[in-house]
Amino acid sequence: MPAPSPVTDTIAAIATPAGSGGIGVLRLSGPQALAIARVFLGSPAKPRHAHRCRFRDAGGDVIDDGLLLAFPAPHSYTGEDVVELQAHGAPVLLAALLRRCIELGARHARPGEFSERAFLNGKLDLAQAEAVADLIAAGSEAAARAAMRSLDGEFSRRVHALGRQLVELRVYIEAAIDFPEEEIDFLRGDELRARFAAVDLILHELLAGARRGQRLRDGLRVAILGEPNVGKSSLLNALAGHDRAIVTAIPGTTRDVLLEHLDVDGLPVTVVDTAGLRETTDEVESEGIARARREAAKADLVLWVVDESRDSGPGARGAASSRITVHNKLDLSDAEARIERRADGTHVHLSAKTGAGLPLLRRVLREHAGLTEGSAGDFSARARHVDALERCRAALATARAQALTDGHGELAAEELRIAHEALGEITGRMRADELLGAIFASFCIGK
Ligand code: GDP
Repeated sequence: MPAPSPVTDTIAAIATPAGSGGIGVLRLSGPQALAIARVFLGSPAKPRHAHRCRFRDAGGDVIDDGLLLAFPAPHSYTGEDVVELQAHGAPVLLAALLRRCIELGARHARPGEFSERAFLNGKLDLAQAEAVADLIAAGSEAAARAAMRSLDGEFSRRVHALGRQLVELRVYIEAAIDFPEEEIDFLRGDELRARFAAVDLILHELLAGARRGQRLRDGLRVAILGEPNVGKSSLLNALAGHDRAIVTAIPGTTRDVLLEHLDVDGLPVTVVDTAGLRETTDEVESEGIARARREAAKADLVLWVVDESRDSGPGARGAASSRITVHNKLDLSDAEARIERRADGTHVHLSAKTGAGLPLLRRVLREHAGLTEGSAGDFSARARHVDALERCRAALATARAQALTDGHGELAAEELRIAHEALGEITGRMRADELLGAIFASFCIGK
């Protein structure tokens, strides 16, 4: 973690824009925040007290009337002196209030700068700071709850717990190197094997949770493909719950690429509805088809729609693992809505028209994202976190082979250090050697 550079400036931003007739919040953070508050109030602000305040401009005219709250350092969101101005004016009045704060010595905050200062002052770790952004951008209620848990430190706590286990393992191995005369053969013992297995289990669970968390955050990008008129647009509308795409009985009506953001039982899903895939001479339509192919290549998953009541035509393309075949128009036959797991992938039989079988498709989509029944995801995570955990796991596996198979204690210890550093990147806080020192100090090698 970089050493916090001394902050000399005060930042200001509209933290919550005023809704229609609602309250807008303007936030200040930095060394001049309390002085600016004093100008507005005419006297020093009492800590954590809601002052009724008339906010005036340089000429003494009232901009707005609202509340002023001061949170002196370090008991604030950023760890610095923070002042919040709550105004009930229109956005133009909030903008005027912000201008006044700038006149009084603050500067406009960059995006994320309040959270960055909170991180630099040790109020939040990196994973928590990222969760703030994820909370704001959450694509579904479940994603928001997961981000809230990360912000609360759930993910960081688990990362730290794993870090402590790794350090203990490293200490154990280094002790074997430093005290080779000990009668126990550390490096081949069952004890060591068991310790590696325990750490690997925790890491495995954390990685699975982080992958789920990443899915909840990023959602799933799904392309709906198939021959014209099989019911692609109808399926999109049925999933979205309202009429978005134009549904007609004339093949080739969906010429454009439509994007729809859906909340599939907590999983944010972006569905791309594309022009029907078929050979055509119509210029506009061929452009649509070219775009459909590009979208399909970008999607995490392709829903290949076929008409259950007709010959299904050409088969779906792409790997079975990233494709679900949807047999639509089930209502035209007397078959049951169902899921089939076949060698060429998962097949769902449904009717976009009646809605029969739609819950099955939703379930399959959630499964594809790694979210099983009832598991909403424990915490939010990002690709960066998953990547760090994967590197941690790879280094752990190497360390294990070196310690247990080859008996190379030094190399194993070095790999464990690499594993621990990868973990440290997640929270940006853990310093491998610091933690190691602390544990070493309390570690008794037995005489
Ligand atoms: P697309 O060209 O693949 O997007 O197909 P559309 O969604 O435009 O649908 C083509 C036609 O099939 C329309 O007349 C729809 O009403 C009809 N259709 C779509 N889904 C179903 C279904 O589940 N059952 C029945 N009976 N008709 C459907």
